[in-house]
Amino acid sequence: MDNADRAQELIDARLEQAMAARRAAGQMVPLQGRAICEDCEDPIPAERRARLPGVRTCVQCQADREKRQRGRW
Ligand SMILES: [Zn+2]
Repeated sequence: MDNADRAQELIDARLEQAMAARRAAGQMVPLQGRAICEDCEDPIPAERRARLPGVRTCVQCQADREKRQRGRW
């Protein structure tokens, strides 16, 4: 194995770690909805999750979704 392969392997391991951490963050508080936005993966404030149980998106993406839905009807 040469150095380039070795570097690529390190990068893959880092990516895998980051993705696992992200998955864990998304599953951390199932009862109060997701900790991160389903659409843009920004963190959803705890206050918003407490106010809207089961909320899945941040304020901005929720507004975008509602706008898209209104446009369809
Ligand atoms: Zn969002």
